[in-house]
Amino acid sequence: MLHKISHFKREANFIGGAWVNADSGQTIDVVNPADGRTIGTVPRSGRAETRRAIEAAEAAFHSWKKTSADHRAKLMRKLHDAIMDNQDTLAELLVMEQGKPLAEARGEVGISAAYILWFAEEGRRVYGEVVPSPWADRRILVTKEPVGVIGAITPWNFPSSMLARKLGPALATGCTAVAKPASQTPYSGLAWGVLCEEAGFPDGVVNIVTGSASEIGDELCENPLVRKITFTGSTEVGKTLIEKTAGTVKKVSMELGGNAPFLVFDDADIDRAVEGAIAAKYRNSGQTCVCTNRFFVQAGIHDRFVEKLSAAARKLNVGPGLEEGTQQGPLIDMNAVEKVEELIADATDKGARVTAGGGRHELGGSFFQPTVIANATTDMRFMEEEIFGPVAPVFRFETEEEAIRLANDTAFGLACYFYTGDLGRAFRVMEGLKYGLVGVNEGIITTVEAPFGGLKESGLGKEGGHQGVEDYLDTKYVCIGGLGL
Ligand code: NAP
Repeated sequence: MLHKISHFKREANFIGGAWVNADSGQTIDVVNPADGRTIGTVPRSGRAETRRAIEAAEAAFHSWKKTSADHRAKLMRKLHDAIMDNQDTLAELLVMEQGKPLAEARGEVGISAAYILWFAEEGRRVYGEVVPSPWADRRILVTKEPVGVIGAITPWNFPSSMLARKLGPALATGCTAVAKPASQTPYSGLAWGVLCEEAGFPDGVVNIVTGSASEIGDELCENPLVRKITFTGSTEVGKTLIEKTAGTVKKVSMELGGNAPFLVFDDADIDRAVEGAIAAKYRNSGQTCVCTNRFFVQAGIHDRFVEKLSAAARKLNVGPGLEEGTQQGPLIDMNAVEKVEELIADATDKGARVTAGGGRHELGGSFFQPTVIANATTDMRFMEEEIFGPVAPVFRFETEEEAIRLANDTAFGLACYFYTGDLGRAFRVMEGLKYGLVGVNEGIITTVEAPFGGLKESGLGKEGGHQGVEDYLDTKYVCIGGLGL
């Protein structure tokens, strides 16, 4: 059914099937990053509301886990259809709170629906095993069961699809969920409650609480009824959550920060590399965990690459996400602008040269110019720090070994990209890079069919692919004896 934006823009928690305020009545303002105006409020909830959401999820779990995978898949297909029927409206809501261009928001909502459909199908293929028994009169079964209540915490950069990757496997396997969306973009998270109601999920299967990150997070981590924490966000917060879940030994999945390298070899198709670079750098104004943080370009092609990338960056159309033709929206807030400015100043102080953009955009607010910086060197801050903005630092390298070493010289290991026309090099470099996601001659590679997830300090576990359900399942060994065989 088609709905208006007001139908999805809820200003209440979704607990046990009811829309409720924070106990204190306090709220948080939600601001449109394109114009700085407040577009509404959501509850400032804390531990008590979260505890009630967990209890609702636990109560629902007892019957939800007994439903068949086929039944759950049918509800998930309805959920998919409800999302797609309202793709444009949900995209508009997303732009209002997050700022990205409408076309990107439509894409995000579309991939949310695709994750739901993918996991609806995967849930029907959660197989156990019959293991050859060493005993003549006993049989060995290995079964898979839903872990129980999961706690899901998500960031502001993909407020819809990051929840899809968590709710999808939870619903498909028979888990129930308590979700906490980012405070800057809560409406796309709360919209999942509306959509789940429309699809007909029982009360308490999905619960959504907005408010104090530390209070909600602490309750989710410490409450023994929660059996798994799935988090997408910064490495810093992810590490704290891992520590906090230790007390109740929960499963954890962590999708954390990145520091993606993008390698261009002399033998690459330069125009294809520039096209991939634009997509891998400026999408969502550079605010994705898989956005390129460091470009490494081989000496023979370096100057031409910088020239072409700078020309392409200058052509990007910056504007409000809802305006026709916008290719890059604002940054999420002024803190993000200041961070990007600091990184550029650090680089120019150390000898870098700005070849495109370099500062705030004339539109004002948190709009920033698509920027390219040549002469990047390893003592600059973006060698280590996530930029999370539309700035492309370009380093020069001479040899393949040097490129692999520089690319791996980071604590992160989420996405990386490289461009080459040499098949042998493609395999050598792919095998040399310590990253969970590798794009070879491609700048955008996320898809529901493939396992998404980082290595090293970029995280634990996979979302998407057939691997995406594994962390939502407990494995149980059953020995059946006394069979008299
Ligand atoms: P963040 O500050 O870590 O926040 C992420 C979520 O955690 C938000 O919901 C936030 O709530 C919550 N949070 C903050 N402090 C918390 C605490 N002490 N306990 C429990 N929850 C807490 O990250 P962000 O700035 O929103 O997102 C950007 C980061 O996410 C980047 O590092 C990016 O690389 C990473 N990311 C990774 C992936 C991936 O798949 N690997 C995907 C997207 C983004 P509030 O909003 O209320 O503060």
